[in-house]
Amino acid sequence: MLQSESAVFSLILLLPPLFFYLLFKQNWVDRELRISFFTGLIWGTIAILFTRLLYVPVEMFLETDLRSFVAGPGPWWMTLLVSIGIIGFVEESMKAAGGLMASYQVSSSRRPAGLFMSFAGCALSFSLLENVQYYMMFGVSVIIPRIIISSTAHLFFACLCAAMTTVALSRNKSDSVVSVRILSGIFMATLAHGLFDFFVFHFDVQAVSGVIATFVALFLLGIYEAWIIVLKVDIPAETGLSACSGCGAFSIDRVRFCGFCGSRVIYTRTDLSCKISSEN
Ligand SMILES: [Zn+2]
Repeated sequence: MLQSESAVFSLILLLPPLFFYLLFKQNWVDRELRISFFTGLIWGTIAILFTRLLYVPVEMFLETDLRSFVAGPGPWWMTLLVSIGIIGFVEESMKAAGGLMASYQVSSSRRPAGLFMSFAGCALSFSLLENVQYYMMFGVSVIIPRIIISSTAHLFFACLCAAMTTVALSRNKSDSVVSVRILSGIFMATLAHGLFDFFVFHFDVQAVSGVIATFVALFLLGIYEAWIIVLKVDIPAETGLSACSGCGAFSIDRVRFCGFCGSRVIYTRTDLSCKISSEN
């Protein structure tokens, strides 16, 4: 491949995180969310490194790489077992751990939208590096459809887990109840990931097909729904004065988005006496 072509190609690999960044651009004026997302990106690279390390003994045992194994001629129950029990479990646990570490680092673990952005960032850099790896192993023909399918899928499973985690954390339950709910979020993501991989590989679904397009559409819808669930629990703790990042309108509601233009509300002041100085 020519050097200019590989430069263009590395840009294509970056498209999913860029697309996500643009899609959520309304939210980046909120500094905490922006930092959560970028910290998530860093933890995603750590998560994929740990995943690769955990796969080393498994792939030595199977005497092939996992992708070739699940795509291979083994019995269906073996494909199902490996898809859920190894690929789904290892990857979703590592991604959730990365997302939780990132949100803990930004101390937004009690802030639902921050946690969501950490999980999303982690999933996006995780799938970005996985795509780079597959590109080096299998070449361009495997990677082009993969960029769309696997990035969307990884993001969806992470958002599913993030939504369940934020709901768990937003209710004032005991630590053990919260832990069980976070673990059930990881379990749901594991199951969804494993079943999707099993379906694609066992039935040898072609990358460019109506089935895959349907899956991608469902995943995008799922990501959107997960974000809505997160926004519902992402309410400022107390009433205060806030300003819109788009039109500048002030409000004293417990809201995250402007009632006039829909942009992010950027800051909240609980001391309402500041209002006079802000208007000057
Ligand atoms: Zn506004």
